[in-house]
Amino acid sequence: MGIVVQKFGGTSVGDTDRMKRVADRVARTHRDGNQTVVVVSAMGKTTDDLVTMAARISDRPPERELDILLTSGERISMALLAMALHERGVPAKSFTGSQAGIITDAVHGKARIVDITPGRVRGALEEGNVVIVAGFQGVSQDTKDITTLGRGGSDTTAVALAAALGADVCEIYTDVDGVFTADPRIVPAATKLTRISYEEMLELAAQGAGVLQVRSVEFGRNHGVRIHVRSSFSYSAGTWVGPQEDMVEDAIISGVAHDTSEAKLTVQQVPDRPGVASRLFSALAEANINIDMIVQNVSEDGRTDISFTLPRGDTHKARAVLEPLADEVGAAGVKQDDDIAKVSLVGAGMKTHPGVAARMFGALSAAGVNIEMISTSTIRVSVVISRDQVETAVQAVHAAFGLGDDLIVAEEGA
Ligand code: ADP
Ligand code: ASP
Ligand code: MG
Repeated sequence: MGIVVQKFGGTSVGDTDRMKRVADRVARTHRDGNQTVVVVSAMGKTTDDLVTMAARISDRPPERELDILLTSGERISMALLAMALHERGVPAKSFTGSQAGIITDAVHGKARIVDITPGRVRGALEEGNVVIVAGFQGVSQDTKDITTLGRGGSDTTAVALAAALGADVCEIYTDVDGVFTADPRIVPAATKLTRISYEEMLELAAQGAGVLQVRSVEFGRNHGVRIHVRSSFSYSAGTWVGPQEDMVEDAIISGVAHDTSEAKLTVQQVPDRPGVASRLFSALAEANINIDMIVQNVSEDGRTDISFTLPRGDTHKARAVLEPLADEVGAAGVKQDDDIAKVSLVGAGMKTHPGVAARMFGALSAAGVNIEMISTSTIRVSVVISRDQVETAVQAVHAAFGLGDDLIVAEEGA
């Protein structure tokens, strides 16, 4: 008898009829003889609605209370699914993240799982139950307060539980057939990948492919969890995420990701001397702000602009830290640009194939897209562009690399 973890996202449990269909699938997995753990998201847009409601009450709701509010969405799902299983003659028990032993740090809104003590989950499985766990939430080791794991966090609940329980597989059921070469909502020609390595999936997820939360892929990689991303609306196979050595063939490029959730801040006319960048970025780090790309221009007359990207939601906090500092170090000021997007090309084959960046930039230029910033890793090239060109850019890059049925062959020497 194996252990199977199945996670169902918001669309998959979007209304009571869909909830019943999920119950049918779970019942089948249980009757096939598997010890079955189900992680559920909040129904449909419930989490967004709760965020909106909180914003109507307060501009800055206390983070502790916001987390308690947001976890209620997943509680609704877990109880309804348990009821639907009982209705089908399948014994089921639901647990909150805290009851399931999901222990986190104390950072509200983006807590990290630090330990999992799934005693009650194991006990309920031993008694023959299907165990349902509310996704996206845990309890802080230090403060004992309820925390949330960041948007998309139910993926991480599922993979982390799969790791802790030694599950045979972690199935992520969603509203698309698997992981595609680009977001199928933006690129209709995108194709489903049969397999993808943890490393490539990590890069795609980190660069905006919201189909898996980044931390879920990290858990998968660190604990060797086999992840199967698939559609909750069909029984066909989806995409397997696993170690590089399991990949049948080495594609040069695996996909294109885009991210429209960041903003760019520029500290203007910074005196070009040792220690200034260190002061700026230390202060941002202390404020718990994650910086993404950084560009420092060539200095002219001893002064230079430093630009960086960060989550748009953090710009308030960042400016509060930077503006007094900019004054102090004698910079001219801080400028904000919200209308940016990041487009990234990811592929393990880049390590050994030269010319990938050149081809990407060529495709962007042919599509009339101006590049504002560039950054790379060994398996990724990312560019920051104007937000209104994001669809054009993703489609152009996707086509230029022949990732779908939209191949554009660049002219020789172009
Ligand atoms: P769930 O609610 O099931 O967690 P999400 O909305 O979080 O679903 O993730 C699924 C969505 O991710 C898809 O509907 C799709 O628009 C988006 N997505 C972005 N990039 C990709 C990609 N490369 N492959 C598949 N889906 C992607
Ligand atoms: N309900 C949460 C969200 O919408 C968590 C999740 O669905 O993974 O982000
Ligand atoms: Mg999700």
